[in-house]
Amino acid sequence: MSQNKVAGPEIEQLIKLLAKLPGLGPRSARRAALHLIKKKDQLLVPLAEAMGVAVDRIGVCSTCGTVDTSDPCAICADPRRDQATLVVVEDVADLWALERAAAINARYHVLGGTLSPLDGIGPDDLNISGLVERCRAEAISEVILAINATVEGQTTAHYITDQLTGLDVSITRLAHGVPVGGELDYLDEGTLAQALKARTRF
Ligand SMILES: [Zn+2]
Repeated sequence: MSQNKVAGPEIEQLIKLLAKLPGLGPRSARRAALHLIKKKDQLLVPLAEAMGVAVDRIGVCSTCGTVDTSDPCAICADPRRDQATLVVVEDVADLWALERAAAINARYHVLGGTLSPLDGIGPDDLNISGLVERCRAEAISEVILAINATVEGQTTAHYITDQLTGLDVSITRLAHGVPVGGELDYLDEGTLAQALKARTRF
């Protein structure tokens, strides 16, 4: 059944593209498109300009794999960062989350996903050889695996640990356990067991 178009092809195209954004379905994409059109000067024009700049300048850092407007990225190029510690993350979103937490002043390595044989994602599809190369070439003393606590994430962590065997690098991972503000009664058994195992002195 074909649907009646509500507007000209340019607006339909805008709605179609917006609907591809995470968290936006067709309905919210229509609302967002209408909002942009109504706020043409305050929103649509600056957004189009910002996107034009992004298209021109944004690329992937050839050192760590994050996205930025320079290569090496601002983090890799920052001499105040701890040069001996690398934080390994699955995705740029994880790097941004850790930076928001402002808990560590290290540099990063973005894998671009996790090993997932079922989805056909193997070691060559991820930036793992780049990590091994960095650990060989740079004076890295610690690799922190800040990888999701999923089955794929843990498989990936084990694989990386194997690949780094023999190098003079200590490998650590994030603690698994009780989230800040979390109530024990609501936690699953696996998390509780991990939290007990990883207990620290008070
Ligand atoms: Zn970088």
